[in-house]
Amino acid sequence: MKVNEVIVKSALSKSSLPGLVYALNPYRGCQHACTYCYAPSVLRENRRWGEFVDVKLNLPSVLAKEIASKPRGIVGIGTVTDAYQPAEREYEITRKCLEVLLKKDWPISIQTKSDLVLRDLDLIEKFKDKDIGFTIATLDDKARKMFEPHSSTIGARLDALRTIAKRGIKTWVFLGPIIPDLLGDTLEELIKALSGAGIDHLLFDRLNIKPGMGAFDQYRDYDYKPIEEKVKELCRHYNIRCYNAF
Ligand code: SF4
Repeated sequence: MKVNEVIVKSALSKSSLPGLVYALNPYRGCQHACTYCYAPSVLRENRRWGEFVDVKLNLPSVLAKEIASKPRGIVGIGTVTDAYQPAEREYEITRKCLEVLLKKDWPISIQTKSDLVLRDLDLIEKFKDKDIGFTIATLDDKARKMFEPHSSTIGARLDALRTIAKRGIKTWVFLGPIIPDLLGDTLEELIKALSGAGIDHLLFDRLNIKPGMGAFDQYRDYDYKPIEEKVKELCRHYNIRCYNAF
C-alpha cells in the first residue's frame, strides 16, 4: 500500500447527491479496495485501486478558510472514498475536519464501511444536525471479504449502528450496490438485523457498471426488479422507511 501525503487547494466540492450541499473527501484512493468500487471512474483515476491512498494533509486548514466564506450547507463526508479507511487511524484528517466543522456547527452526514467512526462519536454527538450511514451489501461476511477485503466486518458494522443509535444519533444504511453474488440469500436476515439495529431509513441501489468494471459484465442486463420489489416488501414488513437511490 503506497501512502502519499499531499497538499490540496480546496476542501469542499458541490455535491449532486440527494440531501447534500457539499462533499468532503479527506483521502483520494481507498484502502478498503472493494472490487466493485465506482470511485476510480468518478475520479478518472488510473492507479491500481486499493493499492494507494493520498492523504490530504492540509485539508482541515483549507476547510476552515472555506467555511468562513461559503454559505452554510450540509456536508457529506466520505462521498467518493471512505473517510474512515485505515489511514484515518493514524492521520486523523477526518477527525480534524470534524473539529473545524463543529466550531461553526455545520450540518454533517457521514457514510462509511468502517467502525472506526465510533472513535469520533464524542465530536459527532455535539453537532446539532448529524447522521451516520453504513454501506452494507450482504450479511454474509465470507462474501464481504471477497468483495470488500479490507472493510470492517458486517458484524462490526451492525454493532456500530446499534451503538450510534443508542447515543441518539440518526443512522441509516445504504444497501448497495446490490450484487446477487454478494447479497446471496441474506436479504431477509439483513433487513431484519437492520430493523433490530434501529436505523432511521434504508437506501438501496443496483450495481451500476462503469468503465473498467469488466469483471461484472454478467450483470449488465440483469433484471433487478424482483430484488428491488423484495427489498421494498421486506422493509414494509420490518417497518423500515426505504428509498430507491437511483
Ligand atoms: S469503501 Fe467505498 S470508496 Fe472505498 S473501495 Fe469500497 S466502495 Fe470504494
